[in-house]
Amino acid sequence: MLQHQHILWTFLILFPFIKSWEEALIVLIFSVLPDIDVGYKKFQRFPRGIRKFLQLILRIIWNILYLPYAFLLSFFIGKKAFEHRTITHSLIPAFLLSFALAYFWSLKIALLALASYSLHLLFDSITVSGVKWFYPLKGLFIRGRINTGTWQVFLIDALFVIALLIFLNLKTPTWSLLLLFVPLIKEVKLF
Ligand SMILES: [Zn+2]
Repeated sequence: MLQHQHILWTFLILFPFIKSWEEALIVLIFSVLPDIDVGYKKFQRFPRGIRKFLQLILRIIWNILYLPYAFLLSFFIGKKAFEHRTITHSLIPAFLLSFALAYFWSLKIALLALASYSLHLLFDSITVSGVKWFYPLKGLFIRGRINTGTWQVFLIDALFVIALLIFLNLKTPTWSLLLLFVPLIKEVKLF
C-alpha cells in the first residue's frame, strides 16, 4: 500500500483512542515505519538536496531502530535481513519497539505504536506479495489480491471513502471497518 493510504487508514481505525499530539505523532510514525526498508527510494519528487537530506534522516532512524537487530539476524538468514518486506514487516520488531516504548515512555503510547505497526502489516497483507507476520520465524503468511504496481492500488482509496461514509452515517466502531478488507485476502497460510 502507498504511504498516504497507510496513514489515512490507521488514523481512521485508531482515532477514537488518540487523545494528544504525542499519541498522534506515534501513530503517524508507526503507521509507515515498516517501509523504512525502502527509505532510499522515497522522496523522488523532491529536489535532490532535500531528497538526500530526508533519506539521510531515514537512514539514521533505520540504523538506530533496526541495524543491531538486522545485524544479529544476518548471522542466521544472511543478506535477506536487509531486503524489503522481510524483517521490518514482522510482529517481532513491533513487539520489541513497543516494549521499549512502554519502558521509556508509557503503556498507552506503546499500545498505539503496536496497533499502528500491526495495521501496516494487515494492510500490506492484501497485496499479492503478502506478509510473513513472524519473519524470520515461521507461523503466519497472509497474501491478498491487490497488485500494488497497477491501478488496483487505488481501490484502497475508494474503499477508504466507503469506510468513511459507513462510519459517518452508521456510527459503527472504527475497527469494524477492517471487515471491508476481508474480500481482498486471498490466502491465509499457517506454515
Ligand atoms: Zn509496507
